[in-house]
Amino acid sequence: MTLTEYAIKFTQLSEYAPNVVVDEQMRAEQFQEGLRLNIRAQVALFMLRTYSEVVARALVIEREMEEAQKVRSRNSRFRGSQKWERDFKRQKVTHPQQQPRKQEWYSGTTDWAKGPRRCYECAEVGHLRRDCPKFQ
Ligand SMILES: [Zn+2]
Repeated sequence: MTLTEYAIKFTQLSEYAPNVVVDEQMRAEQFQEGLRLNIRAQVALFMLRTYSEVVARALVIEREMEEAQKVRSRNSRFRGSQKWERDFKRQKVTHPQQQPRKQEWYSGTTDWAKGPRRCYECAEVGHLRRDCPKFQ
């Protein structure tokens, strides 16, 4: 459960239990009680008295903790976004296999059209690319 989800749930619960959450300060304390320990410890330092202050502060702390987590887990060589990293990996995996091999065959064989018809996929004589066992 994220902090935002918790805040929403807490608001819903306090509406059902008006006797438990009587005033702002108690509401703030109740909310603080339910926070994750590492966030609660930091929120407590501010000695906040209202519910909205506690929520706002907790959200800031949560965001900072997430940021710190990202920085820690990020490889120092790849500082881009995760999406960029994913694209980079995909390119690296798919392209070198297919592209350079074809180019090699085309450029290395100058009398391609004159000679016997070869398979474009494996360059063997006797079958075409559409019949190539490697291509299929
Ligand atoms: Zn073939």
